[in-house]
Amino acid sequence: MARRIAVVGSNMTDLVTSIIRMPAPGETLEAPAFSMGFGGKGANQAVAAARLGADVMMVTKVGDDVFGQSTIDNLKSNGIDVSHVGTITGKSSGVAPIFVDESGENSIFIIKGANNDLKPADIDAAAEDLKRCDLILMQLEVPLETVYYTIAFADRHGIETILNPAPAAPDLDPKQVTKATFVVPNETELALLTGMPTGTDAEIETAARSLIDKGIRTVIVTLGSRGARLITADTSTLIEPFKVKPKDTTGAGDAFIGSFARYYVEGRELEASLRKAALYAADSITREGTQKSYATAEEFNQFLQ
Ligand code: ATP
Repeated sequence: MARRIAVVGSNMTDLVTSIIRMPAPGETLEAPAFSMGFGGKGANQAVAAARLGADVMMVTKVGDDVFGQSTIDNLKSNGIDVSHVGTITGKSSGVAPIFVDESGENSIFIIKGANNDLKPADIDAAAEDLKRCDLILMQLEVPLETVYYTIAFADRHGIETILNPAPAAPDLDPKQVTKATFVVPNETELALLTGMPTGTDAEIETAARSLIDKGIRTVIVTLGSRGARLITADTSTLIEPFKVKPKDTTGAGDAFIGSFARYYVEGRELEASLRKAALYAADSITREGTQKSYATAEEFNQFLQ
């Protein structure tokens, strides 16, 4: 039977406006271009895993607007099971209006909309299907109570979990996430999670170890162009980056986690799966866009040759 991954997380639609400059209060300006893209950390990770051939289901909430419908269509077209994607009447879907000026500087609003309505009751409603999953992925663009509840649920049922504590959430209680199998922060998120500096390799190691001391079994710190570090109670291993010429690094973290999940769930080979994830993320940054830049299994095999 195929190994199954569930993503309990967010979806967003990026609304990208190219601008000359921001309008002053009360001013209306013409802007040169507009485009839309599918995003949200949960959906990104689900899409990366699904494009690589994983059997993925998503537990998420959309609003009753065009963005919600197109998000569902996008998940379906990537082969993702949407039977636990709920629609909230009278709420907007998650959207991110992004303004990019001529120098490439981004100004971003995030409106989480229906993502705020993903509640523990939704985990109960999806429980029977979640119990059939081999791995559950979470991020922090949905209410923390739902993340804590899902980790406890998975722990009770012996299902492994990946928590990507992103975006960095000052309210996250590390004690509530010690039962996650893998915690995967970047350096900024690790600093916020631990209250410790993460400016040097030694500081990163010490901060990650403080999470291990709290009971988290495995910490994987993503380090951008420097790769990633896998830390357990008695090991510390660098996952070397693959050298590429980056074009657009947006969504590299989600490519890394979604692909790691897909490879890990297959054979539970931790280091080998992380090395493949580093390759997959590196490949994704050679192309523009977020989900748009995620390779299919076939494309990724070509990259590996
Ligand atoms: P984002 O928020 O942009 O998605 P992140 O901060 O969550 O990113 P990163 O640590 O930047 O995640 O990147 C995730 C992984 O992608 C890294 O661990 C690394 O393996 C790979 N990666 C990122 N940037 C580069 C790069 N410039 N060159 C090679 N590999 C990279």
